[in-house]
Amino acid sequence: MAFVITSPCEAEKAGECVTVCPVDCIEKGPDQYFINPDLCIDCGACVSVCPVDAIFEEYDLTDEQQPYLEKAEKFFGIL
Ligand code: SF4
Repeated sequence: MAFVITSPCEAEKAGECVTVCPVDCIEKGPDQYFINPDLCIDCGACVSVCPVDAIFEEYDLTDEQQPYLEKAEKFFGIL
């Protein structure tokens, strides 16, 4: 399981999540931040600091948000 950063990040890219992540698994991509799903320990710390509520647990993703998990996996070369 992992948390996933979704569409609101694309317009915001605030980056607060990076500073609170205890395992440093969030990286800045070209158009948004990404959580490495292989390293995320599911602590949820990033969720509350995101100013645009862009971060969701993998299993809570809507159909529209689902592609963002794949986008993160591609970014980290997991797919
Ligand atoms: Fe990092 Fe925790 Fe957020 Fe996963 S849930 S990205 S480990 S802060």
